[in-house]
Amino acid sequence: MTTETPKAPNFIRNQVREEMADGQVERIVTRFPPEPNGFLHIGHAKSICLNFGLAEETGGQCHMRFDDTNPAKEEQVYIDAIKEDVNWLGYEWTGPVRFASDYFDQLYVWAQHLVREGKAYVDDLSPDDIRDYRGTLTEPGTPSPYRERGVEENLELLERMRQGEFAEGGKVLRARIDMASPNINLRDPILYRIRHATHHQTGDKWHIYPSYDFTHGQSDAIEGITHSLCTLEFEDHRPLYEWFLDNLPVPARPRQIEFARLNLNYTLTSKRKLKLLVDEGIVDGWDDPRMPTISGMRRRGYTPASIRKFCDMVGVSRSDSGLVDIAMLTHAIRSDLEDNAPRAMCVLRPLKVVLTNVAEDFEETYDVAGHPARDDMAVRRVPLTRELYIDHHDFMEEPPKKFFRLAPGREVRLRNSYVIRCDEVIKDASGEVVELRCSVDFDTLGKNPEGRKVKGVLHWVSAVHGVPLEVRLYDNLFTEEQPDRDRDADFFDHLNPESLITYRAIGEPSLAGTAPETRFQFERVGYFCTDRHASTPEHLVFNRTVGLKDTWAKIRKKG
Ligand code: ATP
Ligand code: MG
Repeated sequence: MTTETPKAPNFIRNQVREEMADGQVERIVTRFPPEPNGFLHIGHAKSICLNFGLAEETGGQCHMRFDDTNPAKEEQVYIDAIKEDVNWLGYEWTGPVRFASDYFDQLYVWAQHLVREGKAYVDDLSPDDIRDYRGTLTEPGTPSPYRERGVEENLELLERMRQGEFAEGGKVLRARIDMASPNINLRDPILYRIRHATHHQTGDKWHIYPSYDFTHGQSDAIEGITHSLCTLEFEDHRPLYEWFLDNLPVPARPRQIEFARLNLNYTLTSKRKLKLLVDEGIVDGWDDPRMPTISGMRRRGYTPASIRKFCDMVGVSRSDSGLVDIAMLTHAIRSDLEDNAPRAMCVLRPLKVVLTNVAEDFEETYDVAGHPARDDMAVRRVPLTRELYIDHHDFMEEPPKKFFRLAPGREVRLRNSYVIRCDEVIKDASGEVVELRCSVDFDTLGKNPEGRKVKGVLHWVSAVHGVPLEVRLYDNLFTEEQPDRDRDADFFDHLNPESLITYRAIGEPSLAGTAPETRFQFERVGYFCTDRHASTPEHLVFNRTVGLKDTWAKIRKKG
C-alpha cells in the first residue's frame, strides 16, 4: 500500500512551538482572511491548512474573517462558497464568521484619532496626481499641497466624506508618515477612499471605505490575533502594519509573519484570472472540475484528506519556493484513492466481443472483491454473458511485438474470468473494426493455461447488464507550465484544447444508481467520481479525478 509521506518543513510551525515552549505565547490565535471576490483556489488551501492547522495542533484558535473592504468586487455568493470550502476541508472556525466591515465604526474612530494627532490628512489630489507625487524606488516623493491642512479642517472634511458629500476620487484620507521613506508603503498611504457603493454587509451606511492596510492589522488587533500569517508580497507592508499598531490605541499587538505563496505549474492561482476564465465561458463556472478552485477540485473527485496531505508535502517556507509540480498534487489524491476507492470495471470506448462457443443465453456471475486489500468493502457481482465489451484501445489488428492485449489469433484473460482467443474480426463498410468473435477456454477460470503465456488481462463489461455512463476525462487547462508568465501575452493563448474529452462509456452493473460524489477506481483506467451536480442515478456522469500513473513517485525516486 502507499507509504506515509513525511511532512515538509514548516518554519512557522517550528517558531510557534518554540514560543509556546518558552512561554512567550500561551495560546495562539490565527485567522484566515479571504476577500470575498472569487472562489478559493489551491493557493488558499495552503493558507487555510497553515492557519487552521496550527490552531488545531496547538490547541489554539483560528478565526474566519472576510476582508471585505471593496464592495465593488465582492458578493454574497463568494462568501457562501468560501465558508463551504473551508468546512469541506474539515476545518471549523472559532466563534462567529467575522467581517472586517464589523470594525468599520471602530476604524473610523481611529482615523479621527490619527487626524487629531496630526498623523492623517484629507488630500484633494486626484488618484493620478497621488501616484505621480509618490516618487519611485530611487526618488523620494513630493508632499501633497494639502499635507499641512489643519486638524479641524481635516476632521470636518473627513466627516463630510463619510456623509457622502463628495464625488468618488475627489478626496482621500492619507496617513501623514514620510514622503521620503525608502519604503513606498510609508509615503503617506491612503486610509480611506470615497465609494458610493452598496456593501453586502453594511448596505448604504458608508460612502468611504478603508484601505486594506488600514483595516487588516487593526482587525487582527481587535480580535486578539497573535500570529497574522500572510504571503510574501506583504513583507514591505509590515512596517506600515506596525506603524498603525504603534500609533493607535489598539487592544493587542499581533505579529505579521510572511510565507511563500504556492504556485503550481500548468495552473493559475489568482482569483482575478480565474474569474476571467469563468466570465469568458472557457470553463463551466467556478467549480468546473478543471478549475484549481477548492470547489472545482471537489467536483473533480479530490478528497479533503488529499488536499491537506498535499499542503503538508509542500510545507511552508520563508522564501519564494518557485513552481510546485502538479504531479505532487495528483500523487496526494492518487494515494488516498488507491487505499480508499472501491474498484469497478468501465469501458470507455466499447468494442463488442461475441463469445462463439457459448450458448445464446450463457451467463456466469463472479463475486469480486470491492477492493484488493479491504474486506470492509462490498463484494461486487460481475456477470459474463455471450456479448460483452472491451476497450477499442485494447485491440490491434496488426500489433507490434510488445502489445500484450487482444489481436487476431491472440489470447488474453478477461479480468476475474476466462482466457479468450480472438478468432475473427468483423468490420463495417468503411473498414472500421466493429466486433470481435472470440472463443472461451473453459479450462482457465482463475488460472493460466499450462504451457501458454497469457500476459494481457483486460477489463470488460457484459453487453446485456452493463450500464451506460457519461465519462469526462480532464487534463490540465493550460499547455504551458506558467500560463501567465509573460505579462504582455494572454494566458488564453495557452489553453489546452483537450482539457475535456467526453465518452459514452459502459460500466459494470454494480455501478447502477451510484449516488453523486462517489469515488471508484475503474480498473486499468483511473480514478473517477460521480459529478456532484450533473450526475443522477438515471444518467450517471463520472469525472476522471486522476489517471493511474504516478509520475511524482518516479520524480521522487530519481531526485
Ligand atoms: P488572489 O490573488 O487569488 O486573489 P489573494 O491573496 O488576493 O489571492 P485573499 O482572498 O486576499 O486572496 O487571500 C486570503 C488568504 O490566502 C491570504 O492570507 C493570502 O495570503 C492567502 N493566499 C492567497 N493566495 C495564496 C497562495 N497562492 N499561496 C498561499 N497563500 C495564499
Ligand atoms: Mg487579495
